Amino acid sequence: MAITLNSGFKMPVLGLGVWRMDRNEIKNLLLSAINLGYRHFDCAADYKNELEVGEAFKEAFDTDLVKREDLFITTKLWNSDHGHVIEACKNSLKKLQLEYLDLYLIHFPMASKHSGIGTTRSILDDEGVLEVDATISLEATWHEMEKLVEMGLVRSIGISNYDVYLTRDILSYSKIKPAVNQIETHPYFQRDSLIKFCHKYGIAITAHTPLGGALANTERFGSVSCLDDPVLKKLSDKHNKSPAQIVLRWGVQRNTIVIPKSSKTKRLEENINIFDFELSKEDMELIKTMERNQRSNTPAKAWGIDVYA
Ligand code: NAP
Repeated sequence: MAITLNSGFKMPVLGLGVWRMDRNEIKNLLLSAINLGYRHFDCAADYKNELEVGEAFKEAFDTDLVKREDLFITTKLWNSDHGHVIEACKNSLKKLQLEYLDLYLIHFPMASKHSGIGTTRSILDDEGVLEVDATISLEATWHEMEKLVEMGLVRSIGISNYDVYLTRDILSYSKIKPAVNQIETHPYFQRDSLIKFCHKYGIAITAHTPLGGALANTERFGSVSCLDDPVLKKLSDKHNKSPAQIVLRWGVQRNTIVIPKSSKTKRLEENINIFDFELSKEDMELIKTMERNQRSNTPAKAWGIDVYA
């Protein structure tokens, strides 16, 4: 299943996120995922594994497992490269061994101190607070992103972690409208207003952290996993599907694109197996009641500043 972006290109509604995958396991995981039917991969320079991901793609193409044009590949511009968009994109393309990207996103609406192309360091000051670059506007960064489309390096461009204010702003100055806003959303953080706003202006929503980050974010950020919620247990019993499958199906039915990450082949299979059942209107309403307005991914922990304050 795919949706058509405002750029005219199609994007599969389910993809595989590659953040926090062990570099040594990436090739096997990606090849297994392609065998299972995954055609959309969500990468980022900051995940520091583009080289390994690129090797996996190369093997998949060389062995005719899949053709390049049948994959949808996203990667992201890191904060420290806002002043070097074209070089950063070329660097990602080189590591990924690709001639073009399907989607290139501004990872966060915030320029930070440059640390060298593609090195994606988050440099902190003496007090442990992120060193921002206050000389670069998001508008300037976006116009460089637009050049990438004109250069044929990228098919669609988009944004990530933009709120309603910033999304409205970019609509005013963009020659090429963002095709996608990738944001955290799951049953404990539903963000209906932002999603409705983006959809109204033709911007597709990719749900990052679509499982609420599960155990990985409980360990890293201390968040509570929505997968253990009794509402999901009830729906899981009703549909004979796992809580993760219920959450991903809910994500697709609310017209968001979901990119769950797993490093377990069994779960890769589980997470893609969501197209043979449907949640009823009542099921969808029940999940609505789970809203806690609870963000599970809080980069403030590493940056010494609450960027969502
Ligand atoms: P997530 O996909 O919501 O959750 C990942 C966690 O769920 C891992 O602990 C994983 O463990 C576990 N899991 C996977 N499938 C499961 C299943 N069927 N049942 C139970 N647990 C399951 O969170 P995420 O990895 O943080 O986010 C997904 C992707 O979104 C990332 O890989 C990245 O591509 C993107 N992302 C983007 C941003 C941004 O700022 N734009 C931020 C965060 C994430 P195992 O691996 O052990 O299975």
